Amino acid sequence: MSTVHQLLAHLEAHAPFAYQADYDNARLITGSPDQEITGVLCTLDSIEDTVYEAVDRGCNVIVAHHPIVFSGLKSLTGASYIERTIIQAIRHHIAIIAVHTNLDSVHPGGVNSALAEILGLGAGEVLRPNASVDPSTHTVGAGLVADLPEAMDHTVFLGYVKDRLKLRVLKHTAPIDRPIQRVAICGGSGSFLLEDAVRHGADAFITSDYKYHQFFDADGRIVILDIGHYESERHVITLLQKLIQDKFDNFAAHCTNLDTNPIDYYL
Ligand SMILES: [Zn+2]
Repeated sequence: MSTVHQLLAHLEAHAPFAYQADYDNARLITGSPDQEITGVLCTLDSIEDTVYEAVDRGCNVIVAHHPIVFSGLKSLTGASYIERTIIQAIRHHIAIIAVHTNLDSVHPGGVNSALAEILGLGAGEVLRPNASVDPSTHTVGAGLVADLPEAMDHTVFLGYVKDRLKLRVLKHTAPIDRPIQRVAICGGSGSFLLEDAVRHGADAFITSDYKYHQFFDADGRIVILDIGHYESERHVITLLQKLIQDKFDNFAAHCTNLDTNPIDYYL
């Protein structure tokens, strides 16, 4: 049998937890390192229904991208979805592990390299290297920038992204005075990287969670595409599943069947 401790060591070797952002809480959130693994359920979000899915599928470990707990809980009464998830996880002996901004930060094998692959982009470079953990190779950090094999006109590019990522809808800014070839990407909330994308000569920047006033910052320099947070990261579920199953053969790693996106679209 493999233990949660062995799983954590494998995740640590791939995406060291020390690479996570200050605000983050990537770690073992519930459960014990000594726990023997019966199965792993991989998901973007670990919510109460994810715990029930894990129980139904014989999994006693959930590996999620987003931490269910970011900051301190002062009570566990079930008053919020966070508290209810933790209560059910403990009640059903489910270990919850979050692999978040540490997985965002690694290349290759991270959130953005996997996104680049889906988009058919070539080998990329890190948009904002994290010099404090990796002063030499610049392979650790936020976002990626890479080139399409061929330049595309604005509208063709929008259709291409929508198609590749199977989007129902995307938000974007106005066309610029050149076709799109160099593309910056950041799965999740990436608006903080806009100037890095411009500095790297990107023609377009694909990310999510843009606010109204931030779209103005494109300012004819770049095309911003806001594709939705869930949509920009749902490929992480398979990434986690493969990462775990490649190493361990004495338990199954499953992808969740739940769509945990809290946002729906009325079209
Ligand atoms: Zn995210």
